[in-house]
Amino acid sequence: MNEFPQALTIAGSDSGGGAGMQADIKTIQERHVFATNVVVAITAQNTLGVQASLPLPLSLINQQFASLATDFKIRACKTGMLADAEHVATVAENLRHYDWGPLTLDPVMIAKGGAQLLADDAIDTLRTELLPLATVLIPNLPETEVLTSSRIKTTADFKQAAHQLQQMGAKNIIIKGGHLDYQSQAADYVLYADGQDEWLTTPRIATKRTHGTGDTFSACLTAELAKGTPLKAAIHISKAFIQAAIANPITVGHGHGPTNHWA
Ligand code: PLP
Repeated sequence: MNEFPQALTIAGSDSGGGAGMQADIKTIQERHVFATNVVVAITAQNTLGVQASLPLPLSLINQQFASLATDFKIRACKTGMLADAEHVATVAENLRHYDWGPLTLDPVMIAKGGAQLLADDAIDTLRTELLPLATVLIPNLPETEVLTSSRIKTTADFKQAAHQLQQMGAKNIIIKGGHLDYQSQAADYVLYADGQDEWLTTPRIATKRTHGTGDTFSACLTAELAKGTPLKAAIHISKAFIQAAIANPITVGHGHGPTNHWA
C-alpha cells in the first residue's frame, strides 16, 4: 500500500504557536505531509518571550517513541528543543533504535528572545550522541560557534566550521547566516556529504517578525525528505519557503511575531 508520507518532529511545545513543535506541525502539514510528534518539553511562551519551561519525564519520551513505532511509517524526522543532556541522550538512543529515515538536526540552544532552550552541559552530549546521527545538521551562527568553539566572521570561517561539523559526524551541513545582520544579503552555507558546497543567497528582509524561522526552515526540509525529494532540491524548496514566509508577515501578538506559514 502506498501510504501518505509521514514525518516526525521531536521538539518543545510553544504555547504561542509560532515556533517549536507548533511551527513544525503547521509547516509539515502545509507541505502535504502527515506530522507525528514527540514532545520533549513544554514551554509557556508568547511573542514576547519564554515565561516558563518544563522537560517531560524520560519515561514519557520513550513511551511516545514506542507508541509511534507500533503504528506509523515515519520517513523522515527532525529534532528541535531538547532541553538538557539526559533528554538529548534519550532522544539519540531512540533514534538509533528506530529506522525512521533522514534526520534533520536543528541544534536549538537559545531563542531569539534570549531564553535558554538547551542546558550548557548538554552541548557535549549533543556533539557526541546526536551529531553523528544527523543527515542534515542545520545550526545558526551562534550555535555553529558553540559547537565548533570558533568565531565566524568571514566566508572562510563558514567553510572551516562546516568541515569541522562534518568531521564530528554530521553528513550534510547548512550553516544559517541570518545572524550576520550587517550584510545586505542573507547567505546560508551548505556543505554536502560528497564535498560539494554552495551558498544560498537571498536579499535581506528588514523585519522583527522572525520568531520560529529556524524551526520552519528545518520542518519544511524534513517534510520534503519524507516525500522523497532529493536533498539538494529539498534544501532549495525550504529556502524559498522560509524566504516567502519572512517576506509576508502576519500580525499577531505584541513582540517578535511569528513567521507566516501560509505564505
Ligand atoms: N521555543 C521553542 C520551543 C523552540 O523550539 C524554539 C526554536 O527552535 C524557539 C522557541 C525559538 O524561536 P525563535 O528563536 O525563532 O524566536
